[in-house]
Amino acid sequence: MTKKQSIPRFIEEIQHKFTAGIANVFLVHFNIADYVDHANTLPDYLAKWFKGYLVIFYDRNKGITFPLPSMKKKFVELVMKQELEGDPLAQAAIGESQQKPEDVELPRDPQDALRLIDMALKSGQKVLTIIGYAETLTPNADMASLSSEDRNNLVALCSWGRDLMDTESIAILVTGSLTDVHQALRAASSKIEAVEFPLPDFSERGSFIEALIKARGVKLNLSPTEFAAKTAGLSKVHIEDIVLRAEEMKAPVCSDLITERKADIIKSEYADVCEIVDPTYGFEAVGGLEHVKELFLDIMEFLEKGLIDLTPKGVLLVGPPGTGKTLIAQALAKVLGFNFLSFTLSKILGKYVGESERNMARFFLLARTLAPLIIFVDEFDQLGLSREASGDSGVSSRIFQQLLTFMSESELRGKVIMVFATNRPDLLDAAIVRPGRIDKVLMVGVPDEAERVEIFRVQLEAKRAKVAPDLDLKKIARATEGYTGAEIERLVTKAMETATKEGSEEVTKKHVTHAIWAINPSTKNIEEMTLAALKMCSDKDLVPEKYREYFDKAAKKEEPIVTAKRRRGVK
Ligand code: ADP
Repeated sequence: MTKKQSIPRFIEEIQHKFTAGIANVFLVHFNIADYVDHANTLPDYLAKWFKGYLVIFYDRNKGITFPLPSMKKKFVELVMKQELEGDPLAQAAIGESQQKPEDVELPRDPQDALRLIDMALKSGQKVLTIIGYAETLTPNADMASLSSEDRNNLVALCSWGRDLMDTESIAILVTGSLTDVHQALRAASSKIEAVEFPLPDFSERGSFIEALIKARGVKLNLSPTEFAAKTAGLSKVHIEDIVLRAEEMKAPVCSDLITERKADIIKSEYADVCEIVDPTYGFEAVGGLEHVKELFLDIMEFLEKGLIDLTPKGVLLVGPPGTGKTLIAQALAKVLGFNFLSFTLSKILGKYVGESERNMARFFLLARTLAPLIIFVDEFDQLGLSREASGDSGVSSRIFQQLLTFMSESELRGKVIMVFATNRPDLLDAAIVRPGRIDKVLMVGVPDEAERVEIFRVQLEAKRAKVAPDLDLKKIARATEGYTGAEIERLVTKAMETATKEGSEEVTKKHVTHAIWAINPSTKNIEEMTLAALKMCSDKDLVPEKYREYFDKAAKKEEPIVTAKRRRGVK
């Protein structure tokens, strides 16, 4: 027996606000092109949901359309009647003409179309209109830069907020992104309610997949539950797309296909600003960084015990590039069983006005649907950098504000952990680095000798290298002072390449020595970065033993070494 599908929450919200007389106009946003249930897109679903209503669709591209020809007839009769009221001659002319109402050509142009729809909405009949791509009718711009046509559209749509309150009619404006429509439509005084059409959650995806299997006989190489788990962040349309591709290839749906498609979809839907990664390794793949692992294991324990208040909302990892910040954040996601979303600030900044904020807003909507989630924000210092830069028109402060708002949502504690990374802590804003936002600041320094031994060991293991007995990792570690984890990885790869070229099955001391000769550590200013990182650290017990002396000095509020040097003109 098929399970009765439950009504999506956002539909219930519209229904409730409509019947309670709170609003007659709604601005539905975000996942708007998706199926609401298993088969109906938003316009079709709403047309069925509001039984007995005359349903009118409109968008700039298709013009005025109807789910049924009989509705067009009704609409034409309704508006014609009003249009010609008080003009008996014209009425008679229409009466004499042979043209059926169904054949009347309706205007496509927004101004005329909205005028006719307005008449229908206010005709005293029950009318539902769904206006697609609302942002193309009323783009988000200053009043002064709106064209006169856009201004008229805005006035028309805004007027519905109040005018429809006395009617039984309902208008649904639809847009992919709330920040794209003019702010007057979003103002509380507009009487227009914004309602988010979210991405499907795990159970919705699961039941959609079950329905697809039943309807299309889809073959899977993984269980439906795994399929549902792996498609977090995707819409039902995307899931269907994966199934169709598998069918086209005459192959069952498999894990690799999902991962590949998911990466492409997220990239294109979110303008390249973020990436969903399936973390494959836990802490065993991270050499050293014991103090970070310790904090992360504490987080795991807090979550297991339900001690949500102790779980940090944000953790900042400070240190030079290539020291394993991304790696350990991914490992945390793996051990917690959280999703992992990586987000690069430089890609979101510097877009044209409005686009950055739009991408950021969409990013946060995606993030909510992916919880439990680790959000990894790389190049966090970029926010400070671009704030200093001219020509930013306040984009980075608005992005920063959006970030703070997101982080201050208390219900996200324990569900979303943000891990920020930077190598320029001196550029960070004090407003973000404070408890409740970023609760912990940890340094991720260049590895010492013992840590390098560990990194060599895990890297060789991860690459399944056969190690010759003459390879003494301690000696190698001693010879690679100043190398970061990323550089050690390059060394190991290089050594393995040399071994393969020579036809050797094992990686020997000679191969590694050659790699050290060939690859120089490229990280500059390590000392400066290390000291700047220490200056930021939140808890002394989370500072590696060897640096604690410096931490005490920093705590005495000495002038930060990096700043002092810069003032003196030292690079
Ligand atoms: P960061 O985020 O600090 O710039 P990454 O985490 O991206 O550095 O490191 C790049 C790569 O270098 C990793 O994918 C990993 O292969 C290697 N690496 C860096 N640090 C470590 C480490 N501590 N242990 C093992 N591998 C490491």
